[in-house]
Amino acid sequence: MIPGPFSYYRPATVADAVKLLSTLGDEVRPLAGGHSLIPMMKLRLATPEHLVDLHGIPGLKGIRRDGDRVVIGAMTTQHDLLGSDGIAKSLPILHETALLIADPQVRYRGTIGGNVANGDPGNDMPALMMTLGASYRLEGPSGAREIAATEFYQGAYFTVLESGEILTSISIPVPPADHGYAYEKLKRKIGDYATAAAAVVLTMSGGKVATCAIGLTNLHETPLFAADAAKAVIGTSLDAAALKKAAAAAEAIMSPAADARGPVEYRKHVGGIMVTRALMRAAGRAS
Ligand SMILES: Cc1cc2nc3c(=O)[nH]c(=O)nc-3n(C[C@H](O)[C@H](O)[C@H](O)COP(=O)(O)OP(=O)(O)OC[C@H]3O[C@@H](n4cnc5c(N)ncnc54)[C@H](O)[C@@H]3O)c2cc1C
Repeated sequence: MIPGPFSYYRPATVADAVKLLSTLGDEVRPLAGGHSLIPMMKLRLATPEHLVDLHGIPGLKGIRRDGDRVVIGAMTTQHDLLGSDGIAKSLPILHETALLIADPQVRYRGTIGGNVANGDPGNDMPALMMTLGASYRLEGPSGAREIAATEFYQGAYFTVLESGEILTSISIPVPPADHGYAYEKLKRKIGDYATAAAAVVLTMSGGKVATCAIGLTNLHETPLFAADAAKAVIGTSLDAAALKKAAAAAEAIMSPAADARGPVEYRKHVGGIMVTRALMRAAGRAS
């Protein structure tokens, strides 16, 4: 399929991008890696009249340390994340997750900003950002604001982004050096979106879970922050009863779509298994 007609703009600054996005009417979209938007346009599921390409804005790309946080520019690609020693050392779960996205071609073009701003429940980064306690910087006609990843997602493809706003960077607190982590993703084949996936970041103390955060991908119309599932394992040695409780608490908030990846009950069941596996693998990595 060929996309419908559109006009193309390539601003050099965030201010110019915001101006275009807020003055070109309702049918205008930012273009990042294009690996979600262009397929949607080819299928005519998206028919923007104007595309504002963010590739000409140099300040939107890059990874930097800011005290105890890592700040990642929205136009940083999954490939850039995988090539960063800093990410591999301080945020190894981000490296692990990026490697599970699609294939090298998609990762070479696809950006972290596009992945989290898209609002697709099948995208892997949003639930991870919730698990890591990340926040997003949004810049628009009324200035800049910072919003927690846990507050960003409102429905499938529906976020708190307002007209004219773009997501410019992501700020992630660096977990303690001795933390454990795992991103468990069940997919039908290499390169597929998740049938179900779970992210876990935890710390252990004296053989017991001291802190824990859990996020879920593609198990609801938005990514999920599974607070009760995490609570169920804190203070435990992750024995079978605690794992079962965590999986049940996670399943209680899931409401996946029945689609080619399986019926609802199956997806909830494997969602619980992803939580259990991620918890066990994370605990094994914590020191
Ligand atoms: C074959 C295939 C398999 C894939 N498998 C996976 C997978 O397993 N897991 C996964 O997570 N993803 C997967 N993807 C999607 C891929 O990761 C996309 O790159 C990603 O979802 C969107 O990033 P992008 O940079 O390509 O954004 P684009 O496609 O350019 O944009 C996506 C949407 O976000 C908006 N947008 C982009 N950047 C910004 C911004 N900075 N501020 C505000 N709005 C913005 C755009 O207007 C658009 O609506 C797959 C894609 C393909 C083609």
